[in-house]
Amino acid sequence: MEIRSVPAAAGRLLEGIGDIVYPAVCPVCGDKLPFAPAFRAGGSPARMRVHEKCRDSFMLIEEPYCLKCGKPVQAEGDEYCYDCLHTDHQFERGRSLWIYSDAAAASIFAYKYGGRQEYAKFYAEEVWRNLKDYIKDADPDILVPVPISPAKLAERGFNQAELIAGNIGDLAGIKTYGDLLFRVRKTTPQKELGRNARLANLRKAFRVREDADIQGLRIMLVDDVYTTGATADACSRALKEAGAEQVWVLTLCTGAGA
Ligand SMILES: [Zn+2]
Ligand SMILES: [Zn+2]
Repeated sequence: MEIRSVPAAAGRLLEGIGDIVYPAVCPVCGDKLPFAPAFRAGGSPARMRVHEKCRDSFMLIEEPYCLKCGKPVQAEGDEYCYDCLHTDHQFERGRSLWIYSDAAAASIFAYKYGGRQEYAKFYAEEVWRNLKDYIKDADPDILVPVPISPAKLAERGFNQAELIAGNIGDLAGIKTYGDLLFRVRKTTPQKELGRNARLANLRKAFRVREDADIQGLRIMLVDDVYTTGATADACSRALKEAGAEQVWVLTLCTGAGA
């Protein structure tokens, strides 16, 4: 792997993310997990950190998936999803770990709004275990989370994407810059808008810190959920306009392929 020097002024570097305690409750159902001595004896960590039956309720995205965005595609021979055939995405490639199932949605809801920030550790381990090859192919210099608005940050207390990115970075040995990209203004909630309105709404929503030097860097953009790719496109455009060479996208969940 090519070693690149990362500019010192690339934004706030997340440190000590790995100090978060591992969830004592199952990240899927929220019930207490039994003590698992096998884990200490070198058993499979992730298996000991979630109920077996609950873990199976998360649906891993496996082939065939879209070679551009990572969404599942219908047929084995399909290279791209419907969306990507009709959209000129701003990022190089994207992958998601899970289908946005009811189980995944409930887990992420508890993580974002229910005080279960420790789930980030479980999410990151699952990402690293299943998408390690993708991350190595992308060979990012730094990880950058999709930012949330200052109002949301104040309300929620943390950026869900930042915490996931920091934990993945700890496992992958890649630095995560939490405030390199920021949200310029409050936008209308995306779920209330159609695709074109989303794009217009988002086009100017993201900006890179002026004191950040990201010239020529390969960046992995991290978020919790991928829907149409509009957010990833807007972030990628801002990063590339600021000098990033490539942007690869990594998300926890994606909606089923169109
Ligand atoms: Zn469970
Ligand atoms: Zn696609």
